[in-house]
Amino acid sequence: MDYQNRLPPEGINTPGRHPLKEFLRLVFFAVIALVFIGLLLNFVGGRLGGVVPFAVERWVAEKIDIALVESAQDSPFALDPIDSPLEEYLHELAARVQTAMGIEKPMAITLHYSDEDIVNAYALIGGHVYLFNGLLKQLPHENALVMLMAHEFSHVQLRHTVKGVGSGLAVAVGMAILPGNSTVGSPMISFANQLTSTRFSRGMESDADEQGLMAVEKMYGHVNGAGDLFELFMLQRGEDDQRDWETFLSTHPLDADRIEFVEFYALSKGLSQRGDLTALPAQFATWLSTPLRVKNSPGNAD
Ligand SMILES: [Zn+2]
Repeated sequence: MDYQNRLPPEGINTPGRHPLKEFLRLVFFAVIALVFIGLLLNFVGGRLGGVVPFAVERWVAEKIDIALVESAQDSPFALDPIDSPLEEYLHELAARVQTAMGIEKPMAITLHYSDEDIVNAYALIGGHVYLFNGLLKQLPHENALVMLMAHEFSHVQLRHTVKGVGSGLAVAVGMAILPGNSTVGSPMISFANQLTSTRFSRGMESDADEQGLMAVEKMYGHVNGAGDLFELFMLQRGEDDQRDWETFLSTHPLDADRIEFVEFYALSKGLSQRGDLTALPAQFATWLSTPLRVKNSPGNAD
């Protein structure tokens, strides 16, 4: 037997491709892998969020509230005293909407009114729903207000809020434990930050519109006026000339699409689109233009 000490062939450690091409190929696959991991975490987190009992969701909101207050930050879960006719009216109407929607204990909505001039409303975990002065003062009638409430309450009832937080949290934790990322911060505070950036998928928005519409029908016997809420949004955003690609990119369905959806859904479910509109209380506009209590003012005790 004749043994030889042969050298390995040349170039087995360097591929035949250009090094830049090789680099781009690696970057490409790394990005694909990251996107895949992100989508997977998003999905798994959402699923896990959906099985969390409402009582736990509420307990977490309370814990965050305490953590925020202790670190001297504003808490979105802090309870305001109900001491104005506007808040009394909103809470009474919210109770009726909850009954129509079959929202029963242990699930319950905690309604917050903010006198900030912002055209917005949103739902957070634990059943906390915010309505802003800027949006309320543009509502043409009670039917639109009920549609707004029922849409936001649906995000709670369908567990969208907790699913959204589950998805966001899973992605945030996944990204935080990736190498090179060392700043996680206080878990409670980052969790709280996560809450305010939660966005729902378009499917969730459509489901909430659908459920909202059913509530309006149950309360008034027709859905007339429900679509006015989206018409108001459309005017506000000046969306008349939006392009098709924007519909695709946006997570919120376009307001024009939502108006069409109301008509389509009402037709397909046989819901009446004719009926008298219910006016808002006569003092509603006055209530909205009156500033609420002066917050944290020591000289104002009575
Ligand atoms: Zn929504």
